[in-house]
Amino acid sequence: MNGGVQPASKQSMRRHNLALVLRQVAAGQSASRATVAAQVGLTKATVSSLVEELRLAGLVVEHVPENQGRVGRPGGALALNPRGAAGVGVEVNVDYTAVCVADLTGAPRVRLTERVRNRGRSAEETLYAAGRLAARACAAARRAGLAPVQVNLGVPGLVRDDEVLHAPNLDWHRVPAAMLLKRGLGRQPLEVSVDNEANLAAIGEFQARPAGAGDSFLYVSGGIGIGAGLMVDGTLFRGGGFAGEIGHVTVRPDGGECGCGARGCLERYAGQDALLLAAGIDPAQPADPDLPPVGAEARGRRGEGQFGLATATSEGPVDQLAALAAAGDEAATDALTVAGRALGVVLSSAVNLLDPPEVVIGGIYARLAPWLLPILQEQLNSRVTSGRWRPDRLQVSGLGAEAAVRGAAGAGVQTILRDPSAYIDLTSPAG
Ligand SMILES: [Zn+2]
Repeated sequence: MNGGVQPASKQSMRRHNLALVLRQVAAGQSASRATVAAQVGLTKATVSSLVEELRLAGLVVEHVPENQGRVGRPGGALALNPRGAAGVGVEVNVDYTAVCVADLTGAPRVRLTERVRNRGRSAEETLYAAGRLAARACAAARRAGLAPVQVNLGVPGLVRDDEVLHAPNLDWHRVPAAMLLKRGLGRQPLEVSVDNEANLAAIGEFQARPAGAGDSFLYVSGGIGIGAGLMVDGTLFRGGGFAGEIGHVTVRPDGGECGCGARGCLERYAGQDALLLAAGIDPAQPADPDLPPVGAEARGRRGEGQFGLATATSEGPVDQLAALAAAGDEAATDALTVAGRALGVVLSSAVNLLDPPEVVIGGIYARLAPWLLPILQEQLNSRVTSGRWRPDRLQVSGLGAEAAVRGAAGAGVQTILRDPSAYIDLTSPAG
């Protein structure tokens, strides 16, 4: 917008102030330019020009009351533009790939799920297909007036610098995941970041919490692998980068060998495959034939350019396990008891070590909560040494299997909100 080259200090000031104003708009209830100026401590003229830049970039909309005249008058109510930039979440898991596009307000607008056995395929093939699915979701989002810019990919493994170092359940070693996903995305101007899927699920859980809910909790996601994310005052605790590998906490030192190379890991007792096998269900059974190979892209109200959500990721064999347990099948309830005890022992240790105000179970554990909760409560009651364990500290995620892909899309939105100048420079014709 300013033709000439700005000195570095001026550019960093603009960058800082754009983020400050956008954050205020995101947090505010219909704030005007004047109230934002008062809140951030900048002059009205400065805020007005920053707002104008955000508005022209499509990040902010200004609702001017009808009797107030032309657009852009300082009295209008500012809000994030639900038809502007969008974050894209991609989750590649063992038995499905999912994509979610969220608008700037964090609302999911396009959702695609492909039930596919990614274990046994090469990482190149899996990530290319995931990129193609994401490209399809982005095309649907563009038709709804959105501009997808940031992709966050979640994978069940150890991630560093957008590379997957090891994902035991996918049999991936040193996979340059961001680069391989980009191949499938084609020639789209999208930035790609990679993270552990349980980290993204914890972020998704945090973003979906109702106002007033606590911002510190331990999230535990059940699936073929088991991951955790520790949220501390709204920030994910990453340790040295690999925190949260709760599936590889030892339950029995001499137990069976785990895909990670160690023995007796929690995953061997409470992971999806272990649970299904113990219940007499074939974990490798083909996906539910009633499900289409690619989840329908829901058509919405055209005028508003809205896309509804396609059916949430269905667990297939996990639903079968739940149905058997509900019917009182002994093998199924025994399997859930064994898994619940192992999980309860590990959660109790985690609570004794970290004392998080809440523990949230998600992924397949949300689906299996009717059977797992009483066992987990019993374990926590008897093992948490402070004696302060209360049943309401154990919660069930409302997002279920959606948490990771929703969190990935939300994390993409946060990247845009944190640094709107990067988005503006990327999309402006001059840049
Ligand atoms: Zn292990």
